Amino acid sequence: MGKPRWYNEAACIGADLEEFFSISGEQRPAVIDVYCAQCPVRPECLQFALDTHNYHGVWGGTTPAERKRERDRRRRGARAA
Ligand code: SF4
Repeated sequence: MGKPRWYNEAACIGADLEEFFSISGEQRPAVIDVYCAQCPVRPECLQFALDTHNYHGVWGGTTPAERKRERDRRRRGARAA
């Protein structure tokens, strides 16, 4: 799978992506504040990670643990609807 179209506008283009993927659980790396906080495609990035069940790294300025909670929240919302 290639890079999604929105990635062309990502604030992290050219950054050392190792920093985005060398995290786990609740750990919030500095790249979230440095890059994601000002990223114009943050919502698209988060949605992509949720849609593709991406469990590693920083996506949309979230940690893996935050995305798991968001997935669970959405699942509960879908069941209640
Ligand atoms: S939200 Fe963060 S990880 Fe996602 S594209 Fe933007 S800078 Fe990169």
